[in-house]
Amino acid sequence: MNHLRTALLLPLLVVSTPSITAPIREAALARHIDVLASDAYEGRKPGTPGAIKAVTYIAGAFRDAGLTPGAADGGWYQAIAFTERTPVTTDMRVGTRHEAEVTATGLDPQVRIANAPIVFAGYGIVGQGRDDLAGVALTGAVVVIRSGTPAGMAQAPRTAERIATLQARGVAAILTVTSATTPWADQTAQRTRPATTLATVRRPSVQGTMSQAAFRRLAPNADALLAATDTAGFRTVPLPGRMSLTVETTIRPFTSWNVIGRRAGTAAMGQAVLFTGHWDHLGICRPEGATDRICNGAVDNASGIASMIETARELGTGAKPVRDEVFIATTAEELGLLGMEAWADAPTVPLTDVVAAINVDTVAIAPRGLPVAIVGRGLTRLDRVVDRAARRLGRKVDTDLEANAFTDRQDGAVLVRRGVPAVMIGGSFSDLKRLEAFLGSVYHGPADAPGKSVVLGGAAEDADLTVAVARTLVDPAAYPAR
Ligand SMILES: [Zn+2]
Repeated sequence: MNHLRTALLLPLLVVSTPSITAPIREAALARHIDVLASDAYEGRKPGTPGAIKAVTYIAGAFRDAGLTPGAADGGWYQAIAFTERTPVTTDMRVGTRHEAEVTATGLDPQVRIANAPIVFAGYGIVGQGRDDLAGVALTGAVVVIRSGTPAGMAQAPRTAERIATLQARGVAAILTVTSATTPWADQTAQRTRPATTLATVRRPSVQGTMSQAAFRRLAPNADALLAATDTAGFRTVPLPGRMSLTVETTIRPFTSWNVIGRRAGTAAMGQAVLFTGHWDHLGICRPEGATDRICNGAVDNASGIASMIETARELGTGAKPVRDEVFIATTAEELGLLGMEAWADAPTVPLTDVVAAINVDTVAIAPRGLPVAIVGRGLTRLDRVVDRAARRLGRKVDTDLEANAFTDRQDGAVLVRRGVPAVMIGGSFSDLKRLEAFLGSVYHGPADAPGKSVVLGGAAEDADLTVAVARTLVDPAAYPAR
């Protein structure tokens, strides 16, 4: 830290933002990472014994850091029910013709759909000046859609939203046509991989993918249809014939947990600042016989959990917060931000009372001294608070928007979509070359392990920044509510 610079700037700033009392040390972070990312935790995959070890460790560490249990039942754990579906067999017939190039999963272990009408719904987008589904009854239909985004549409609805829109129209099945560039035979890994949803999620009876070739056999005028989907005037069209589907699925229910700790503020106003980070990772990720089978997830995201624990401890020193501090170690981020979704569906603080959220994910890749970037810059009113705190700590501020490429890839996205200002902050996201080098090599592999992939200087420095930012956010005088 540059003390001279800090001293010069201080008189110009808001007085109610104290500097940090003691810097967070690399060794403190390493202690948590070494445990959470050890082989004994087997990669912290939700639904495994390693996951239970992880949540137990985090609850203990939250307690040691001075937090109290924050789940709705008065304990540390928010239990979440999940459903994992793995495709077994898919039998698809159009009239008497059998079609092999289709893979789907069902709502139940065996689902049969007989003689259903077939429609092609393009991108399946309703909104942004389009209504791909206008004027067509979809109840009981097999709906074929294409993936991707229409030419020229910047912010298309997410796939999950398109599926929900179709689901609301009572469709029996949704089949997505896969990319023309990758041959069907080369997509086996994606097609047969298990998919997990929250158990509460509604979905059509059958959901799956079909090859380009299968689509072309289904739609004699496929090229014209596909071309039409890029125009705003596109409308869902019936395809010839009737479809029958028999789908067998292995269904595995399991439970996993968000760990929630809190520190009560001095004002009983109910407002809170949220600190989030996911504890889950990919588990045993290599086949039997491989030298190293465990994806330990040291950087992703034992580093973020370590940072959150030490941030909690540091915030417990000095003046008590006015607003509540709530710490959520989420599960199932790697399965699609599902733990965060589950919390947002049943929040322990009303979402309108969450004045700000800071997510911590994949922070231990950079040394000290990098400029501070914000993932989500320009999307919330937190930028000013973060930039000021960074400058006060003698750090440079990276004001370009490059880090926003990661906005949708982290738990904070769930909160932003629901109107909660949420960001990730720090040096890891200002040096995108370094971040992309990590993502292109050790990321999501067995090499992301303690001592190998972990660089802690920047993580410690960024935790200090989080503490400084948090001290402003918990104070209504320094950071008024919306
Ligand atoms: Zn990950």
